[in-house]
Amino acid sequence: MSNIIKTDVLIIGAGLAGLSTALSLPKSLNITVLSKAALEVCSSHYAQGGIAASLDKADSVTEHVADTLIAGAGLCAMDNTARILGAGHQAVQWLCEQGVPFTQSTLTKKIDNTPDFAVLKTSDLHLTKEGGHGCRRVAHADDATGRHVMDALNIKAQTAANITILPYHEALELLTSPMISSSSFSINDSEIRHCRGALVFDHINERQLIIHSSAVVLASGGLGQLFKRASAPNVCVGDGVMMAWQAGCRLANLEFIQFHPTGLALDDSSFLISEALRGEGGRLYCPQTGARFMLDIDERAELAPRDIVARAIANQISSNGLGYVHLDVSHLPAAFIQAHFPQIYQTLLALGIDMTTDPIPVAPTAHYSCGGVVTDANGLTDIAGLYAAGEVAYTGLHGANRLASNSLLECVVVGRNIAANLPHYLIKLERLKNLEALEKTAEVLEKMAQPHTTAYYGLHQLAVDIWQSPTLENTQFVILPSSKQSSLPTYKADKAFHSNVDIVEITIALKALLTANMGITRSAKQLEQALRQIEQWQESIEHNKTMLSDTSSRTPTTNSRTPTTNSRTPTTNSELAIFQLARQLALATMIVQSAYQRFESRGGHYREDYPNLAETPLTSIILPSRNATLNSFSHIIEDERYPIPVTDHI
Ligand SMILES: Cc1cc2nc3c(=O)[nH]c(=O)nc-3n(C[C@H](O)[C@H](O)[C@H](O)COP(=O)(O)OP(=O)(O)OC[C@H]3O[C@@H](n4cnc5c(N)ncnc54)[C@H](O)[C@@H]3O)c2cc1C
Repeated sequence: MSNIIKTDVLIIGAGLAGLSTALSLPKSLNITVLSKAALEVCSSHYAQGGIAASLDKADSVTEHVADTLIAGAGLCAMDNTARILGAGHQAVQWLCEQGVPFTQSTLTKKIDNTPDFAVLKTSDLHLTKEGGHGCRRVAHADDATGRHVMDALNIKAQTAANITILPYHEALELLTSPMISSSSFSINDSEIRHCRGALVFDHINERQLIIHSSAVVLASGGLGQLFKRASAPNVCVGDGVMMAWQAGCRLANLEFIQFHPTGLALDDSSFLISEALRGEGGRLYCPQTGARFMLDIDERAELAPRDIVARAIANQISSNGLGYVHLDVSHLPAAFIQAHFPQIYQTLLALGIDMTTDPIPVAPTAHYSCGGVVTDANGLTDIAGLYAAGEVAYTGLHGANRLASNSLLECVVVGRNIAANLPHYLIKLERLKNLEALEKTAEVLEKMAQPHTTAYYGLHQLAVDIWQSPTLENTQFVILPSSKQSSLPTYKADKAFHSNVDIVEITIALKALLTANMGITRSAKQLEQALRQIEQWQESIEHNKTMLSDTSSRTPTTNSRTPTTNSRTPTTNSELAIFQLARQLALATMIVQSAYQRFESRGGHYREDYPNLAETPLTSIILPSRNATLNSFSHIIEDERYPIPVTDHI
């Protein structure tokens, strides 16, 4: 069995962003889609409420943009927001064409998966209302929109001759190489690189694979599972964010973790109680006093943006000692509840709660990452040939707090924008490679390598023009911890971890730490404690890694306080587990450090010690880790088992 696969486009992630891209790319391209686990294990599958778009005659894109900007609390990127929301109508129409059985405005029409749904028009759709939206704007398929959407797209993708889906294939690192073979080409001394595939762990056959491609689309979802109470499935631990950062991409606004106000607060359940319940009239009550507390907090009451409702519930919980508040819809007709929310109704009934008569215990849960890999509305990242879409990406649409149901829309719009842009990139890349091949005589190559010659400029210009990295305004840089900045006070961990690192134990403890110290409200003290604890875990991992791996000279020495990942890519399950944990710890450091350096409260980021808004809204930026890329990549090149082919396959 070969360890090398070649494909035109590699898509990392089989959620809505990944499949929207795959199905929208030209059929002439050979596409490989990876999923870390089974196909249904992705946030997209679990989405309930729906997809927001201004579909109603009385609504407009301008109003949708306005509501999004209000929720985003001054941090939305205006151009991308307008572009993405402006394409909402076409995105929902495209989903209709894929056969998504959206609920129609006459609720008597029953949902099933008959091909008739392919002829649904956006004007046929029932629209629901959710928090922060000024009107009914959310198209849905019952209360299980994600499942219906993903079922329809999976059928299409699995029957498409040009798409290969590989479940249980986990991307570990992105492969990048110089855009032009002569390594002297650079912009401002930094080499122009492009992404050309990924190193992958095949969990079915327990082996490493190299997948070579002409372009890569990161669609690997969010990072909610770094937290204890989280709505996302366990594949969502921020792999894509870390891979992109290592490959040379900027990250933005990682501190803006959105907490959904109403996760089911029953044992360890991760089940979500959709925002649409409040949209249709659900009310929040203090279980002890029966007070409808949101009335005192915001004029929009239960329909205030998520950050406001989540914080209000968290405040109630911190004083009531119960761990939950009540969400009540029992004043609505039972038939309406059963018809509109069949999945939630049945799930709760199985747990002994009849929501037509009983209140539902709810508490906030980590739900969505508003930050991520910096991209534009076409999904372009900082590395040529590397696109990103969906929750892994930061387009600036969500600002400091995502407006409900805008993320499914973003997955489809940006995924389809990538599909429109990517073929042009491939043509330019081919032209560049052809030109390079033509001119690759010893004499010309020598000239090309010398600045100020015509040959140098021709090829160089082509390499520069091939890709425009996203531009950002009003930014602040996050300074990551390093040994030179050891001003943080010492924090003694509850438990010392020695050479035998208990990976499961640290993973669980990390979730608890982030939930406690990096939750709905934060303070410098909590964040410092978190950084210290994470550092201690990193040190124990470094120690353990040294024992596990051969200590060959190619293993770089790392500073334990700098976010680190295991540069020796794993080949066994135990190495993989350490690699994953090291990566999660590194990402946790970046999230906490971003929160630590935002000295204000805005949207989903609330600092007890800085409760006010700063005058100027600034986007937090983490600069890429170029050294990590080079170390990892050179390791792969050195490895004789995975030689890099001389020519690109386009
Ligand atoms: C319970 C719940 C309800 C929600 N409800 C709504 C809603 O009603 N409306 C709305 O707009 N948004 C909703 N959201 C948010 C929305 O569902 C997600 O933001 C969106 O679906 C993310 O899509 P995605 O394609 O980016 O990622 P996902 O759908 O999470 O897919 C990620 C994919 O990447 C793969 N992957 C991850 N890491 C790797 C790796 N290293 N290698 C290979 N593959 C990898 C995974 O296996 C998976 O296939 C909800 C989220 C949750 C959790």
